[in-house]
Amino acid sequence: MTDRIFNFNAGPAVLPLDILKQAQAELLNYRDTGMSILEISHRSKPYEVIHQEAEADMKALLGLGDNYRVLFVQGGGSLQFAMVPMNYLPAGRIADYILTGSWSEKALQEAKLLGQTHVAATTAGEGYRRIPSLQEIKLSDKPAYVHITSNNTIYGTQWREFPNFGDIPLMADMSSDMLSRPFDAKKFALIYAGAQKNLGPAGVTIVIIRKDLLDECPPTIPTMLRYDTYAKNDSMYNTPPCFSVYIVHLVLQWLRKNGGLAAMEKHNQEKAAFIYRQIDQSGGFYRGHAEPDSRSLMNITFRLPNEELEGAFVKEAVQAGLGGLKGYRTVGGIRASVYNAMSKEGCLALAAFMDEFRKKNS
Ligand SMILES: *Cc1c(COP(=O)(O)O)cnc(C)c1O
Repeated sequence: MTDRIFNFNAGPAVLPLDILKQAQAELLNYRDTGMSILEISHRSKPYEVIHQEAEADMKALLGLGDNYRVLFVQGGGSLQFAMVPMNYLPAGRIADYILTGSWSEKALQEAKLLGQTHVAATTAGEGYRRIPSLQEIKLSDKPAYVHITSNNTIYGTQWREFPNFGDIPLMADMSSDMLSRPFDAKKFALIYAGAQKNLGPAGVTIVIIRKDLLDECPPTIPTMLRYDTYAKNDSMYNTPPCFSVYIVHLVLQWLRKNGGLAAMEKHNQEKAAFIYRQIDQSGGFYRGHAEPDSRSLMNITFRLPNEELEGAFVKEAVQAGLGGLKGYRTVGGIRASVYNAMSKEGCLALAAFMDEFRKKNS
């Protein structure tokens, strides 16, 4: 394969081509340093600029002020499953989790290792086809925090409207839809997102945290697992994942240059509609996993009449230049991940392929 394909992988996932080209052009000699960004100190001026601009750009995109910090942490979204309760679930308190898929289950599992938990709502019994309504959420008495997963990468569902629990800290795993649309980030005490879905390469996790929470990190847990360590040291207590932060910085600038989150939402709605329309107009040949009002704009999941056809679909799609469409094993079928960097052209190509495949096989 010599040409780039349309890449529908769930993560690591497609990045904007212009950014890859810029990284390639700058790789051997970063801005006249005579060194690669891969080779320079994280304490050097050129890296410091990248790191600080990335924090500032992230806050600007989210409309956050001085009472928030942006931290760059390693260990993926999965380490955050543990860091959140380690820091914010003290003995004698209960943390509430809303279960909307496999990643929220994993987050809960870690919290259970560390303290008391309560499931405030779950749609597990319905195969995680939908997001619970706000009326279905039953909180425990004064929970330490409430944890949600904004977009369910595996099942293909996404919160439309975020809940509001007043003073109770709301914490969210936004690994697979961070910066895909505007939302009121000030509603959240803490947001985390592994970069490799919608923000950049693997290796860095973005944590957005309200500053008052930094005073609550227990001094008894290891230094590298405390959020205040990252905040006090500008995420440079130890060596940060410099190259990953560098790419995230380029992605943030690309987002700002292209109209920010409102423009991105419009782009994502338009893209997803091409594919959902194929599902809805297929007369039952394609069956969407998510209920229509919970559909994700990032991960589109659907089944075909049988597994044989699903296998043929994935195989023939590859031949048509459409990669990464095989669904996750628990849901089966097809998953098209159409993150910010997926072009309209890619989604149109997939829609055309779906149309043709259905006509040929039904
Ligand atoms: C991929 C994913 C994770 C896990 O991320 P890692 O960086 O691999 O630990 C967590 N939450 C969601 C919603 C994800 O999509």
